[in-house]
Amino acid sequence: MTETATAPRAPETGVPLLEGRSLTKHFTVHHAARRGRARLARNAGPAPVVHAVEDVSLALPQSGITAVVGESGSGKSTLARLLARLIIPTSGTLLLDGHQVPASSRGRREYARDVQLVLQDPFSSLNPVHDVRYHLARPLQIHGLGEAGGTLDSGISALLERVALTPAAQFLRKYPHELSGGQRQRVAIARALAVRPRVLLADEPVSMLDVSIRLGVLNLLGDLREQDRLGILYITHDIASARYLADVIMVMYAGQVVESGPASGVTDEPAHPYTQLLLSAAPDPDRAEPPSLQGRGSPPSLVAPPGGCRFHPRCPHAMAVCAARTPPPTQVAAGHSSACWLHASGLTRAESQPLGSATTAAQPSAPGPAGPADAPSSSAAEGGEEP
Ligand code: SF4
Repeated sequence: MTETATAPRAPETGVPLLEGRSLTKHFTVHHAARRGRARLARNAGPAPVVHAVEDVSLALPQSGITAVVGESGSGKSTLARLLARLIIPTSGTLLLDGHQVPASSRGRREYARDVQLVLQDPFSSLNPVHDVRYHLARPLQIHGLGEAGGTLDSGISALLERVALTPAAQFLRKYPHELSGGQRQRVAIARALAVRPRVLLADEPVSMLDVSIRLGVLNLLGDLREQDRLGILYITHDIASARYLADVIMVMYAGQVVESGPASGVTDEPAHPYTQLLLSAAPDPDRAEPPSLQGRGSPPSLVAPPGGCRFHPRCPHAMAVCAARTPPPTQVAAGHSSACWLHASGLTRAESQPLGSATTAAQPSAPGPAGPADAPSSSAAEGGEEP
């Protein structure tokens, strides 16, 4: 295979491979206009906004796996799309090798080659009318990494072997419907690897696979990190698989990062009540006494999220300050931080009263629609679910 595109650059020492700084994404809702009721929409005031991702920063190192964990609607898939530049952030900065991503078409093309996204559903991410060979040949041709003829075919076979689809000749002419779910996801990963990326954004890559074949795909990602020195972002709602695969875990709730740190620290000693809730819902045969926290309520509506800590309508430890002010990240161990007022010092007596009993203490600065702690939020009607 003849390579004609720019060779991958080596990152400078100590500089993250891919970094997002204060990434924020708001989506404007245009329901009325879409239904042909533009006049009604004009009279209804400003269009509502979905606060999908708020002020999220992360850094992906080379040969490292960072997991983003959260339930449906936490903003983790939007974050992956921001990092893949499929959508433009409302604010915030993306840095590749410590440099801002250029806006030129050449810069965008090089970024698309360096940062590849693997989607959740391999059946819909592969074109059903094309065979495996076509799916792997296209990225090679588009990025100038292969030539027609035997060289291209040998490159495709090598890709299939890297994702353990062997003998490769047996898979080249198969269509997506002729493959199992695990084989389809391996083809999707091989397609991402075809352009020799340095960052792989894996958005729930095993959630649609049978339990019996999930481990094989997770181990494949682990091998790629070692062999290709890839920086991998692993997005999942399953904190147990994040613990198995990742070096670092970031927990997201309602568009914000609530806890981050080494995978062992976050899962062995979760500091944030939401992480404790996630862990209490995750089966773990090694844990003798799982956290006993009981979940209540549903994720909030992201159109009008609760003020202060967004988790406060569901949190059994909520204090007066939680509804009034957003908790800053507080370091609870080396490299491990939690955005929770329980770990902050200097709260007044009124601020630290239990939320229900604090009638004269700090009031919410931007009260949301979540209502009483046990009341289901508006997102319940939109498909919110208990973790
Ligand atoms: Fe609970 Fe308050 Fe901590 Fe939020 S800041 S998780 S409401 S204790």
